[in-house]
Amino acid sequence: MNILDFSTLYTDNESCITHFRKEREKEGIVCKRCSCKDHYWLSSKNQWQCKSCRFRTTIKSGTIMEDSKFSLLDWYKAICLITFSKKGISAKELQRQFDRKWYKSTWLLFHKIRKAMGNRDSIYQLKGSIELDDAYITVETTEKEKKKQKAGRGTVTHSSITVMAESTKLENIETGKRSSHCGYYKMKVTESQKSTEVNEIVEKLVDSQTIVFTDKSTSYVDIEKYVEAHYTELSSNETTKTTLKWVHVAISNAKRTFNGIYHKINAKYLQNYLDEFCYKLNRRYFGKRLFDRLVVAVAQNLVAN
Ligand SMILES: [Zn+2]
Repeated sequence: MNILDFSTLYTDNESCITHFRKEREKEGIVCKRCSCKDHYWLSSKNQWQCKSCRFRTTIKSGTIMEDSKFSLLDWYKAICLITFSKKGISAKELQRQFDRKWYKSTWLLFHKIRKAMGNRDSIYQLKGSIELDDAYITVETTEKEKKKQKAGRGTVTHSSITVMAESTKLENIETGKRSSHCGYYKMKVTESQKSTEVNEIVEKLVDSQTIVFTDKSTSYVDIEKYVEAHYTELSSNETTKTTLKWVHVAISNAKRTFNGIYHKINAKYLQNYLDEFCYKLNRRYFGKRLFDRLVVAVAQNLVAN
């Protein structure tokens, strides 16, 4: 679907409700009061009613849209703009497209969609062979956070992140030359690069049957406890082009993307920006289907997760 398809399919709130109802029913409606999964649809109210306790669930309730004053059509428009721009779009630009007065509410809507992207990707663990490295992203901290961290005078600082990429090594039978191909990515904000923190990330986000490649940093000394095998190489210009090629490609792309779109990134919300970046990167071949996939992510029931 492209923007033209969108404007034909979703002309009003009703058409969005019809579509979103179908998507939510595929995910399953869970009653907040009694956890029952059987519901009737009340078309006059655009609500589901629990077959067991008669509790009603609105079209947005139980999803990230709950409590939002934006109409479903507004949410669909936002999802459309987010998925159709390859790199991304700032909340300021979204506000301009929406012709809205309130930057804050558009900004919040945008972060909620990013959260849904992160939630969706958190279902999957990385598998096979994986490149892992750390990086620093330029961010801003607020006055309050600055005091807490006792950071210097400037507001600009750097947040450390752990980046992982599935990387399959293939050998060309004729030339014997080896090359690597990338799969899924994950990026996580870390407080420090202490080994305990990296271990936690690996244990949670990576399948225990994987092979992990890193440099010889002390942050990675215990990784082998959580995976099938761990190989290290001394960090050099060469490793960034070979063993750790894909994490480095992703890191520089992320930095370029963030610099190009956002005026500044608040440290507190960096994970949301990384989630959007990885969500799109992991679905880089989805093309027009990305819109529908993101609607599914937004329809995900918060109670069930
Ligand atoms: Zn119920």
